[in-house]
Amino acid sequence: MDESEDDFHDEEKSQTLKKKIKEKKSPTDATPRKRKKKSKWWTHYSDTEDYAFASCKYCKTLIGCETKNGTTPLANHIKRCKKYPSNLDKRQKLIDFKTETLVNEDRVVETVNVPKLWEFDQDFCRKKLARMLIVDELPFMFVEREGFQEFCKALNPLFKLPSRSTATRDCYALFIEQRNELKISFRNLQSRIFLTTGTWTSGQNLSYMCLTAHFIDDDWNLHKRIINFCPIAGHSGQLIGRAVEKCLNEWGLKNIMTVTVDNASSNDLAIDYLRRRLNI
Ligand SMILES: [Zn+2]
Repeated sequence: MDESEDDFHDEEKSQTLKKKIKEKKSPTDATPRKRKKKSKWWTHYSDTEDYAFASCKYCKTLIGCETKNGTTPLANHIKRCKKYPSNLDKRQKLIDFKTETLVNEDRVVETVNVPKLWEFDQDFCRKKLARMLIVDELPFMFVEREGFQEFCKALNPLFKLPSRSTATRDCYALFIEQRNELKISFRNLQSRIFLTTGTWTSGQNLSYMCLTAHFIDDDWNLHKRIINFCPIAGHSGQLIGRAVEKCLNEWGLKNIMTVTVDNASSNDLAIDYLRRRLNI
């Protein structure tokens, strides 16, 4: 039965019980009888005029407590009583500390630990899991490994581990999100961008090109970002030049300062190609 429905019935019962108690003409009808209150549930109730009913200390609902029923009705009500403090906030928060950097009057930088509320967040944890797979270069299968699953369960049983295909999708979603963020920061960038590019051939005889952007942000922090990693048909100058041009167009990069390459003749041709196309 639904909880709210239960409450409704409790409320309804309570009203009729109150009426019944009032209707009783003399105290002899409700013979006060001493009862041994051994059960812990009695601590949540106070006595009423009628020995057959107890009143909830939190919401004042009357609960039938005749000896033949035992204390089950008392226990049941407390478990769902909306005013019982322990039921108020099931998603209890914990205190965590975050580090904050402060600059005091003498311009000395100090770090302090500030308390903040911590709450379990499934989506946040999944995002961190995807990040772990990427930065630690783990296989997607990792999330289905027995040891890791046990470890997660021990850390927080609330966390539902995704399957390897879901983890793959999470990683791709994180990549798209980060790429969009980087695109926005490129758009607002004041400094020029410095590129380096390298090509090599894998064990399976496939050629790859990697393009890295270096730039300085508004706070004078140096950044290094791989903006493209793609297979190319060969190592000829024109192919490399075209791949770089395509990538720059996709990112919408125009403020290129320099392109640094390995000392190879094909790279000279690639630079000539880029110079013609980009006017740098
Ligand atoms: Zn109650």
